[in-house]
Amino acid sequence: NAPLSVLDPVVAAAIDRELQRQRRGLEMIASENHAPLAVMQAQGSVLTNKYAEGYPGRRYYGGCEFVDVVETLAIERAKKVFGAAYANVQPHSGAQANAAAMHALIQPGDTILGLDLAHGGHLTHGMRLNYSGRLYNVVSYHVRDGVIDMAEVAELARLHRPRLIIAGWSAHTRVIDAAAFRAIADDVDAYLLVDMSHFAGLVAAGIHPSPVPHAHVVTTTTHKTLAGPRGGLILSSDAALTKKLDSAVFPGQQGGPLEHVIAAKAVSFALAATDGFRERQRRTVAGARILAERLSERDCVAAGIALVGGGTDVHLVLVDLRESVLNGREAEDRLESIGITVNRNAVPDDPRPPLVTSGLRIGTPALATRGFGVEAFTEVADIIARALVAPGDADLSGLAARVQHLVDQHPLYPGQAPLLGE
Ligand code: PLP
Repeated sequence: NAPLSVLDPVVAAAIDRELQRQRRGLEMIASENHAPLAVMQAQGSVLTNKYAEGYPGRRYYGGCEFVDVVETLAIERAKKVFGAAYANVQPHSGAQANAAAMHALIQPGDTILGLDLAHGGHLTHGMRLNYSGRLYNVVSYHVRDGVIDMAEVAELARLHRPRLIIAGWSAHTRVIDAAAFRAIADDVDAYLLVDMSHFAGLVAAGIHPSPVPHAHVVTTTTHKTLAGPRGGLILSSDAALTKKLDSAVFPGQQGGPLEHVIAAKAVSFALAATDGFRERQRRTVAGARILAERLSERDCVAAGIALVGGGTDVHLVLVDLRESVLNGREAEDRLESIGITVNRNAVPDDPRPPLVTSGLRIGTPALATRGFGVEAFTEVADIIARALVAPGDADLSGLAARVQHLVDQHPLYPGQAPLLGE
């Protein structure tokens, strides 16, 4: 029972270096966050030892009385935070939540209608190499002028009569009109699945309209804006789908649930119901708006920098670099070199290949968690703008020093070093 640093110093050192990387840099990957210590404690607990196939009160293993407490809490808290009649907290990830939802609602060979990956959709919404593209007949809709082309969704639905319509995105900046999607789905007798992985935290905080009353099924990851452990969650407003959805997760897609992760989900759902969480989500969106405004100023426009959709309603901006001298990869590397981590991202109708791209996705959730407010977001927005505007003569070391100043002002996991493996 030696501690990690003694038993496996190589792994311990890599974890420690990752902690330092997170502490010394600014994390602006839109799908990332910094989970609270309590979430990591639950996830690093003895619950990892327990097999618990089945559901609370209906397990295929003995000794489940305490994991039943934990999983029931997680289910009830998820239902409460999102106003759902049904919750399944077992999916190991967002991808598995989607796989299970599709498994429950449709059959292999059925047609699905989802947002094109190149326009901000997710792999599991029908990408060719993904299970969704291999099992189902895929039709894709698109983004036009920064918004989802609902007329195209309606037209494709009428033309192809999908069994399932998927709304939701990985790279988009406007709210989803779940009621409009549902009206289209009802028109062609399809199910509606809303994948709110990216914006679930905003929904919990009441900033993004909830898709739960409109969709047949809602899926989400628990680790993006929600700031819980890495994992997935399935919700529904229709309790009649309970049996179908439960059996699609287990035994349909998975074996033993990760009860240590479920405990961490329970903690994060309780946190998501607090005023502190709601205030943080408001700062998250405010930070993204500050960034959008700075990147729309004259120096940026003159340098060929544009924003997909012209701004943002959510926790991220999508920078369109098609008219800039920098491509997505160069811009990503440039920000990395001054201590800001973002990811390159295709923009709609991107002429460059996916490994290069002509865009950047820049998100604010992790910085909001770190305590950033208006002043700090204004400063980081200016740093980013200056790094992107003047590729030839930007003072990169000066910008890196400004990043380090922000880092010092916003310590990550302050005073919690011993519990984090140092
Ligand atoms: N759905 C959407 C919209 C996502 O953005 C993601 C992750 O990026 C997923 C599903 C998949 O989540 P995971 O990486 O946990 O499988």
